[in-house]
Amino acid sequence: MSNTLEPKSLTDSHAHDPILEPLPKELRRHLHFTLDSEDADRNAYYRACAIAVRDRLHRDWRQTRGRASEGDVRRVHYLSLEFLLGRSLNNAIQNIGIDENLRNALHGVGLDLEEVADVEHDAGLGNGGLGRLAACFLDSCANLALPVTGYGIRYEFGMFHQRIEGGHQVEAPDRWLRNGNPWEIERTEDTKTIRFYGHTERYQDESGRPKIRWVATHDVLAVPFDMPIPGYKNGIVNTLRLWKSTTTDDFDLDEFNAGSYPESVAKKNDAEQISMVLYPNDSSENGKELRLKQQYFLVSASLQDVLNKWVQKHGKDFKDFGGKNCFQLNDTHPACAIPELMRLLMDEHGLEWDESWEIVTRCMAYTNHTLLPEALERWSVQLFSRLLPRILEIIYEINERFLAMVTTQFPDDPGLRDRVSLVEGGHHPHIRMAYLSIVGSFSVNGVAQLHTDLLRSGLFADFCKIWPTKFNNKTNGVTQRRWLSHCNPDLRELLNESIGVQWQRDFSLISDLAPLVDDASFRERWDAVKLTNKRRLSKYVLENTGVEFDTNAIFDVQVKRIHEYKRQLLNVLHVIHLYDRIMKGDTADMTPRCVLIGGKAAPGYFMAKLIIKLINEVAQVVNSDPRSKGLLQMVFFPNYRVSSMEVICPGTELSEQISTAGKEASGTGNMKFMMNGALTIGTLDGANIEIREKAGAENFFLFGLSAAEVEETKKNYCPNAIIGEDPEIARVMELLEGGLFNSTEPGIFHHLISGLRNPHDQWLTIADFRSFIDTQRQVEQTYQDREAWTRMSILNSANSGWFSSDRTIQQYADEIWHVKSLNQDEK
Ligand SMILES: *Cc1c(COP(=O)(O)O)cnc(C)c1O
Repeated sequence: MSNTLEPKSLTDSHAHDPILEPLPKELRRHLHFTLDSEDADRNAYYRACAIAVRDRLHRDWRQTRGRASEGDVRRVHYLSLEFLLGRSLNNAIQNIGIDENLRNALHGVGLDLEEVADVEHDAGLGNGGLGRLAACFLDSCANLALPVTGYGIRYEFGMFHQRIEGGHQVEAPDRWLRNGNPWEIERTEDTKTIRFYGHTERYQDESGRPKIRWVATHDVLAVPFDMPIPGYKNGIVNTLRLWKSTTTDDFDLDEFNAGSYPESVAKKNDAEQISMVLYPNDSSENGKELRLKQQYFLVSASLQDVLNKWVQKHGKDFKDFGGKNCFQLNDTHPACAIPELMRLLMDEHGLEWDESWEIVTRCMAYTNHTLLPEALERWSVQLFSRLLPRILEIIYEINERFLAMVTTQFPDDPGLRDRVSLVEGGHHPHIRMAYLSIVGSFSVNGVAQLHTDLLRSGLFADFCKIWPTKFNNKTNGVTQRRWLSHCNPDLRELLNESIGVQWQRDFSLISDLAPLVDDASFRERWDAVKLTNKRRLSKYVLENTGVEFDTNAIFDVQVKRIHEYKRQLLNVLHVIHLYDRIMKGDTADMTPRCVLIGGKAAPGYFMAKLIIKLINEVAQVVNSDPRSKGLLQMVFFPNYRVSSMEVICPGTELSEQISTAGKEASGTGNMKFMMNGALTIGTLDGANIEIREKAGAENFFLFGLSAAEVEETKKNYCPNAIIGEDPEIARVMELLEGGLFNSTEPGIFHHLISGLRNPHDQWLTIADFRSFIDTQRQVEQTYQDREAWTRMSILNSANSGWFSSDRTIQQYADEIWHVKSLNQDEK
C-alpha cells in the first residue's frame, strides 16, 4: 500500500475554511498528529476522514449558530428520547459535496471509500421508526435551512446487538463509543444541573410573594455533546445536542470527612446510569424509575439550555419567549417539558402561574405516534411524587384548572371530567402522559391521515370536542438523500442523467420520471440497476446468513421491529403455504421467491422472540429441502439496523407492509422501499393508504380487512371456522401443528398456534390469510410480465415525491412552527 496521498482532484471548494489544506494533506496530518497512528489501515483512515470532514463543516456550523441566534428568528427545539442516526461519514460528504474528492484521496493510498466508510459504527440511539423519523427530520430541517436544534440523550449503549443462536435472538450490548465518536464536540461550558427526589417547601420572596422551592434534592449534571447536522449543499450546519449524565463535583462532605472517600466518589455511578442505556422497547411502555429519570433529565437540561440563552440576551423579560420558541415533543416521552417549563418560569424566574401557562401553551407541540393501548405512557403517582415532587404538584394544578374549565364549558356532559382527567384514579393512581401533552400543547398531530382520523374519532375524541382546532395531521416522510441518493448510487446516477440533479434538494421533481415508463431503453436501464442492487444484497445476505439468494427470484422483504401487530407471522404462514405447494408438486406457474425477514424483538417480549425462532426454523427446513431449489428460499437477517437497510432497500422488489389495519400509525420503511422502486403488498393501514393513492391503485397490491372491517370482524371472529373451511389454510396449520418445524423441540410453538386459533386474537391473522395468499399469487403473475412489473416499479418511484421528509418538515414549518428558512433572501 502506498502511503502517499496524491493531490488529484482539488476542487474541494465548498464549505471549508481557507486555513484548511487539500484533503489528502489533511488526512495525512490527522493520521500523523491528531491520531498519532502507526498503521495506516482502514480503521485509522476512517477516523482521519471523519475528523477532516468535521473540520470542513466547522465554519458553516459556527455561522449557522450565529445566524440562528442573531436577529429575532423564531426557533424550534425538537425533543426526542431517540435519534436513530446510523452512520455519518457518507451522509456528510454527500451533503457538502466532497464525496468524489474524498474517494480520490483514499484511492491515492490504495483504499476504497466504501471500505473505509464501512468501519463506522451505527449511532443506534433509537429503536425503530420513531427514532429514525427524528433523524430524517433533522436532515430535512438542515436541507430547508430551518433554525431547528435536536435535543436527545447521549446513551453510552445504543440499541442492542442481535445475534441468532439455535434460532433464538441473543442480545449483546452496543458499545458504539468504544473507538470514540469523531463527530461530537463536548461542551462542558454549557453543563446543567438536574434535580431529583427531595421535597418542596413554601416561602416568601423578597417582595413578600408566596413561592415554592424544591429542596434537599439529589443533583446530577448534564453535559452536552454536539453533533453537526449538515444541510444539502446550502452552507447550513444545524446541531443535535445530546446530554450525558455525570456526577456533581460537590462531594457529600459528611461522608467525605467520615473517611468514606470511596463511597462518596462511587456516587458518580448513580449519576452516570441515567444516560447509560437506551430502553429497547418499541411500541410498549417502560414503566421503570430509570426511564422516568431519563425523560426528566433530557427535558430539564434542554429547557434550561434554551432559557439560559434567552436570559443572556433578553434578561428576565419573557413576554416574547412563547413567540420565539417552539418545542416539538416526539411522542409523550418528553412530556415533562410542560410542567418543567412551568417550574423554571415560576420557581427560577419569578413569573406567576397565568403568564407562565400562557407561554407554555404557546410553545409546546406534541406528536402522537401510536394508538396501541400498551404503548400509552402512564406514570404512577407514587413514583412521581418520590422522584419529581415539584413536577407532580404542577401537574396536579394543571389538572385542577383544566377540569374546572371543562366543568364550566361542558355542563351537559358530567362524565367528561373523569374521562379527560390527567390523573387516572383508583388504588394506584397514574398520570396519563398523553393527556398532559394535549392539555399543555397548542398543536397535537398524528403521523398519517388514517392515524389522525382514528385519534380524532377514538383515543382523543373528548379532547377533540374541547379543542377541535388543536388536532392536525403531518404524514411522515423519509429523507431521499440517505434513502435513495446515498444508499442507491446506481439509481442516483440514472436519475441524475434522466431528470437532472435537483431532486436531491426538491423531491417533488421525482415526478419527472413518470413519462419515461414508455421508453423501452430507460426501462432496460432501470432493470439493470435493480439487478446490480439485488446482487449486492445477495452478497450481503450470504455474508450475514450463509444463504445465497438466487437473483432470478423475486426479492420479497419484511424488515422492521418484530411485533405481533406487524404480523411477521402472517408472512411466515405464507412461506409455509408456498413450501406446501412445493411438496405437493404444485409448482407449474410458481415464481421463484427469496424471502428476507429481519428485525429486533424487545428482550422481554416473549411472543416476538418466539416469532423469530419460528422464522429461523421454517427457513432451515425450506432451505435444506432440495425440492425448494430454484423456487423458494428464506432467511432471517440478523441485527437489522440503519446501515443494513441501506443495502436491503435498494435490492428489494416486494415490500411487505402487512400490519393489521388500524394498528400501524404510519410506517416509514414502506416509503424507503417505494422510493427505490419496490412494489408494496399491504393492508389499508398507516401511510400505506397514501402510498396507494399516490402510486395509483393499479400499482399497489392491496389485501386484507380495512380498519373499520377489523373492528366489525372482532365482534364475531371464528378463526377455527375459517381454518376448517379453507383446505390450504388448514394444511398450513397442520404442518405447523404437526411439528415439521420443531421436530426436535416439541411444543415450542404452542403459544403462536393457540394465538392464531384464539377468537380473541387481536391481530386477526387468520382472517386476512386467504386474501394474502390470493394477492401474493397476483404478485407472482405480475412479476412474470417483466414489462408490466418494471412499469409499476418506475411509477412507484415517480410518485414517491410526497414521502420526502422535506415535504413533511415544510408542513411542520408552515402549519405548526411558523418558522422560515435562514436562506430566505437567497431564494
Ligand atoms: C425505517 C426504519 C424503521 C421503521 O420501519 P417500519 O417498517 O416503518 O416499522 C425501523 N428500523 C430501521 C433501522 C429503519 O431504517
